[in-house]
Amino acid sequence: MNTSLRAFKKKVLIHKNSFRRFLTSLEKNTPRKLDQLVMLAEQQVWPETDCLRCANCCKTMTPTYTPGDIRRIAVHLGITQDQFKLKWLRKERNTGDWLNKSTPCQFLNPMDNKCSIYEVRPADCAGFPHLSKKRMIDYMHVHKQNIESCPASFKLVEKMIVLVKTGRDKTGSPEVRKTERPLEL
Ligand code: SF4
Ligand code: SF4
Repeated sequence: MNTSLRAFKKKVLIHKNSFRRFLTSLEKNTPRKLDQLVMLAEQQVWPETDCLRCANCCKTMTPTYTPGDIRRIAVHLGITQDQFKLKWLRKERNTGDWLNKSTPCQFLNPMDNKCSIYEVRPADCAGFPHLSKKRMIDYMHVHKQNIESCPASFKLVEKMIVLVKTGRDKTGSPEVRKTERPLEL
């Protein structure tokens, strides 16, 4: 594990419970412009995040492959969809989702943390960690999980805490909280 991931894991241990409590408090007492706050926070997250130094999602999680993903990747690899599934995927019993059999992902190059099928990677990978792609309120359960694995998700929540507590973005734009009461973290 590289030093920044090690440092991340330490921060997770210290903060994960309070971050989860914060997310729960947002579910109970949702700011009116929550999704705008998420977009503001996300704008601050990516300039500070280098996914090529991390790749923790590819190392520890599995994407969900849609039928379109399977078709596209199999064509790219010059094999049939059945061969692709047999070699690398497993079908989850409860959901019927196609997932990687093992981690790290077979398509991750451990030398440079690059994806060897980047152009045709699953849509789930292309969108991950879905910071502001969906309404935050509908995605809280995923953020609660992802703060443990994804430094970008962790930073998003870190920045959201500041934004929600102060009720202001960095440029001092108007109040966005529904109430004046500071959130208990
Ligand atoms: S397909 Fe590529 S981006 Fe997706 S988990 Fe595997 S290595 Fe990572
Ligand atoms: S999306 Fe998150 S876990 Fe994946 S490489 Fe970027 S920071 Fe790391």
